[in-house]
Order: sequence, then structure tokens, then C-alpha cells
Amino acid sequence: MSALWSDHVAGLVPYVPGEQARIPNLLKLNTNENPYGPSPKALAAMQAAISDDLRLYPDYQALGLRRAVARRFRLEPDQVFLGNGSDEILAHVFNAFFRRGERALWLPDVTYSFYRTYCRFYNVPHRLIPLADDFTLRIGDYTGDTDQEPAGIIFANPNAPTGCALDLGSIAAIAQTRPDCVVVIDEAYVDFGAESAASLLERYPNLVVVHTLSKSRSLAGLRVGYALASTELIDGLLRVKDSFNSYPLDQVALAGAQAAIEDEAWFEQTCQAVMQSREKLSADLQTLGFSVLPSSTNFVFARHRSQDAVVIARRLRDHGILVRHFQAPRIDDYLRITVGTPEQCQRLCDTLKSVLAD
Ligand code: PMP
Repeated sequence: MSALWSDHVAGLVPYVPGEQARIPNLLKLNTNENPYGPSPKALAAMQAAISDDLRLYPDYQALGLRRAVARRFRLEPDQVFLGNGSDEILAHVFNAFFRRGERALWLPDVTYSFYRTYCRFYNVPHRLIPLADDFTLRIGDYTGDTDQEPAGIIFANPNAPTGCALDLGSIAAIAQTRPDCVVVIDEAYVDFGAESAASLLERYPNLVVVHTLSKSRSLAGLRVGYALASTELIDGLLRVKDSFNSYPLDQVALAGAQAAIEDEAWFEQTCQAVMQSREKLSADLQTLGFSVLPSSTNFVFARHRSQDAVVIARRLRDHGILVRHFQAPRIDDYLRITVGTPEQCQRLCDTLKSVLAD
């Protein structure tokens, strides 16, 4: 606290990212990074981009990358918005679309916790809508009659940290019944087995789909994300962005991200490997006494039948393995475990076996 701060700063509740520990022989399964690494073509493109050209500002319209993303989704480049990680895009989304006076943003009670941080930051009232007991989203809660239309709707699909995916028909129904607000689908994990709502964009001008290169493209350290939407909504995001930072992506990131998006073979191969590893990990965890939610992501959400999640996480950490635990209502007996390579998952399960037996 400082008397020199602006008034609202003391009231902020910053997001707490997963631990970045420096411990020997670390196995980091707590922040959903991809164990397979970025496309070699992306690495080569970035190396080539480190040149005398760095004295110049990057293309503030980032047309090369926007065109590459647009091609992949059969959209126009002016339907693509870029940001320094999808977190930055989400921040601009809240600023551009959800600040609508008294109206509340609707979001699930269990979802990506950064959304609530942005609510505070931008002073957006919100209404938490409970997920069903099995952590699925009840579509009727979003499409039913209401006294006051929402300021907007946001959720992750597949959801985080549960890993559960919602079908496209349900997303279409929500976008259709709430045409007076923006519906944002955060698809950070969609490439690991769910279906993207990008195909709905031509029918729903109020829909925004947000993607990141941090997970399926294994570029968390590069900080690149993009949003797909109607030109009307992208124009709103650009107005906000250009009132904040004209150049959120540097030239090296633009080059690497474009090459990564264009390397479909690497993307396919590494996503398949993660999904295969996930299925084995889920089965092995069940053998060890965990119940595991069905996952369409690069993590699993699991609860042990008898042992405390905090204790398990602490003891794994003693063995150099980090997993994520959320001290939050309804989910505090679960662990969110990132899917690693088969060898990494084996080490996790071997360690769990001894931790649980002690
Ligand atoms: N959305 C969800 C659901 C996430 O889990 C994350 C990663 N923490 C993000 C968005 C942000 O990803 P990034 O900023 O790395 O693109």
C-alpha cells in the first residue's frame, strides 16, 4: 500500500501464476506448458529475424501474421486481432466490450481465474453461474429469460481448470439468444481435442474466439495470442489496443509466430503426442486411486479418493515435481496436472505411488 498509488490500485486482486521454481531435477507440470517444444521452423524464423532490422519498429498492423492466422481459419485478416499473449487480448476484450454500466458479466463459478481479476481491474460487475455437479456448463443458465441482459458472457472452452469441453451447438445457442452482448470463448486448450467455435463466426457477429500460441504451439515464452471475430468487434479491440500500445508484438515474435502457425505438420504431431500421453496418464492416475475428469486439454483435473490434494502437491514438490492446486470453492480437493511426455508422466506416477503409500 502506498499513498502515492492511484485510488483503485489497493483494491486490485492480481492473478497468481503457477510457481516458476528453481529446484534441481525439476518436473514442471503446473502451468500447462507443452513438453515438445516449438516448431523448428519457428525457431529458425526467429533466429533469422534477429538482424539489423531490429532498429525499425515492427509493422504495427502485423499483416504477415494476421494473414497467416486468417488463412488457417478461412477468415479475412481484418477479422484477426493479435496480442502479447492471450491474457493481454482478454484484458482488451474486457475493456472494449464488458464495461456496460450496471449490467453484469456472466461467467461460470469455476473457470479461468484471471477473468475475475479483470472484472476488478475494469470495474465490471459480474454474476457467477454455477457449473453442474459434474463441472459441465448448463446451457439453459445462459439462454433462459433474464431481468437484465448480461454485459457479456465469457468462459473457457475446454474449460480451465476442469478440462471439460462444450459442444458447438450450445455455443451457437448462447450467441444466438444474447445478440445484444459479446460472447467470448477462450479456446486456449481447444487444439487438444475440442472443436473451435471459429466456424460459427460468420453466423454470429457478437462472438469472439481467443487462442494462444502458449499451449498447442509450445511458445509460452514468446507471448503471442490472437482473437477471431467480426470486423466490427476487431475494430473495437484495435481502438483499445492503439490507445494502449501500438506494438505489443516485437519483430522476432511476429516472425516466430507466423512460422509456427504455418507449420501444420509439427502442430499435428505434437498435439497427437500430448493427447496420447493424456489418455495413458488418466488411466494410470485412476489405477492410483484418483478420479479424473474427462479432459480435452493438455492437463488433467484429478481428485484422490482418500488423500488430501494439498498434501499430495506438497510431497510431490519435495520430489521436484510441481502440479497446480487451487485454493478455491468446489475445487480445493483437486489437482491440475499438465500432461508431459510419456517419460515425464511415468516419473510422476512412480513418485505418486510412493507418496501415496507413505
Ligand atoms: N486462457 C486460459 C484458459 C489459460 O489457462 C491461459 C494460461 N494461463 C490463458 C488464457 C493465457 O495464456 P497466454 O497469456 O499465455 O496466451
